[in-house]
Amino acid sequence: MIRMSAVLALPFAIVARSRLLLAQQNAEEAAANAAAAGGCLACGGFFFLFFIAIIALNIALLVFVYRDASNRGMDNAVIWLVVVLLLGPLGLVIYLLSRTKGNLIVCSSCQSKRLAVSAKCPHCGNA
Ligand SMILES: [Zn+2]
Repeated sequence: MIRMSAVLALPFAIVARSRLLLAQQNAEEAAANAAAAGGCLACGGFFFLFFIAIIALNIALLVFVYRDASNRGMDNAVIWLVVVLLLGPLGLVIYLLSRTKGNLIVCSSCQSKRLAVSAKCPHCGNA
């Protein structure tokens, strides 16, 4: 009689054991999924920062080009701004090759930067 109950109990024990294993597996899978999601989130954060850095760099580039062009007395500073905005680094190269050459000095009247060779300051109009 004892032997009989042991034989009957064995399948239940196996089922119970396999259910426990399954639960463990699910928990492990869930943990792995959570870790993967966390990794993806960190990755997304990195790309977000990268994206922000690219935008900040572009804005700095546009500000540089606009100020440099107006310091050099170029009337088309806004056009150069648009060129660099649309073409990016290539636009910057084109700008650097085609801008008015010469050293920038500080204007004695308005303290803005102007070309050393220019006859008049592009900011205040003084010689
Ligand atoms: Zn000036």
